[in-house]
Amino acid sequence: MTHLVGGISSAGRALPEIDGRPLLIEKAAGPWLWDRDGQRYIDTALGFGATLLGHNPPEVLDALRQTQEKMLMPAYSHGLEEEAATLLSSFTEELDQVIFVNSGSEAVHLAARAARAATGRHKVVKFAAGYDGWFDSVAFGNAGTPDAAMSQPARPEKEGMLLLRYNDFTDVDRLFADHGDIAALIVEPVMANAGCIEPAPGYLQYLADSAHRHGALVILDEVLMGFRLHAGLTGHLLGIDADFATVGKAIGSGTVVAALLGKSAYMSVFERGLATRAGTYSGNPPVCAAVIATLTTLKNRDYRQLLRQGDGLRQKIIDGCRARGTALCSTGYGSVFTFWRSNVPPLDYRQAAATADKAWSLKLHFALRRRGILVMPFAFGRFYLSFSHDEAVLETLAAACIESISELS
Ligand code: PLP
Repeated sequence: MTHLVGGISSAGRALPEIDGRPLLIEKAAGPWLWDRDGQRYIDTALGFGATLLGHNPPEVLDALRQTQEKMLMPAYSHGLEEEAATLLSSFTEELDQVIFVNSGSEAVHLAARAARAATGRHKVVKFAAGYDGWFDSVAFGNAGTPDAAMSQPARPEKEGMLLLRYNDFTDVDRLFADHGDIAALIVEPVMANAGCIEPAPGYLQYLADSAHRHGALVILDEVLMGFRLHAGLTGHLLGIDADFATVGKAIGSGTVVAALLGKSAYMSVFERGLATRAGTYSGNPPVCAAVIATLTTLKNRDYRQLLRQGDGLRQKIIDGCRARGTALCSTGYGSVFTFWRSNVPPLDYRQAAATADKAWSLKLHFALRRRGILVMPFAFGRFYLSFSHDEAVLETLAAACIESISELS
């Protein structure tokens, strides 16, 4: 019997055993992970996107070490928190006020609370098949569930949260025609958690304009996509005007940190006593030091090169598989993408669900793991690349993917 439920604290991180042995990671550096038997793997899960600089980046480790020696948690205010907030908001246009929390789920929860307080309305909308964390109000309609399919005429709703179909313009019109009292829309700019489904041209702008016209606020959920495509928010890169944004993962290089950003007019609800914020560990010195070191480093990294390398890798794998008679395509971007067992990339969740193949994804996980590559075994899963995945690593990755994918068909 294991004392740890299911052998791991987050169900989404569980991997199957191979030959009766669980995978237990002992060490991480750059693009690599080592298990307790000393076997080395190229990692493509990267803490679900958190370690964009690669595992254990020296700049971040140094900042953590220096800060931890001075203080772990003073309870009182400390200068690093303001410094981290100032730096973070410098990348996020008019979203210039910040609250640090400990997880993306907390940040989304806080965003919904702030939007409700600012508008005096209760209803909040999220995308069917989107993932905005595991807190009760948003933990429904996730990819792979009946609600996500939205096949019933009635719009699924839970505790004041409604579902909306991503990339469906008419569903936006229907939403606001049926509900005149929406506080906010939670918008993952790219439906990363449903297999990196990209926004249709003009869709995000249409959504934000419709929301604002009806007095609803826009919450960009950038916990996964924030700082992945450039040093800033993906939604801003795609032209969406948001009132709040949630960030996490990449801003802290794998330390326990996330943040809510917002326009000061709306973030004022916290200081006016209309909404509460709290958290024993929120904004503690080591994570603030990690944020400062991470963002300072990311600012000087060549995102264009990373995206180019990633796109080159995707194309090479697709071409290699097709040359061997295996259908394959990909959605997403050079640093985060999903492969599909088809020649036609899905444009929305319905197409993604019809293309997704759970058994194939699991087999691919096993085939790659035996070749020293780690990829999550999910039908809507993603490959992540980091700034530490160099040409040699990408070469090995491409060859292993081509062999594994073509052997499965
Ligand atoms: N929002 C999005 C888009 C996410 O991808 C995630 C996590 O994967 C969350 C929110 C929740 O973040 P956390 O796991 O830090 O609670």
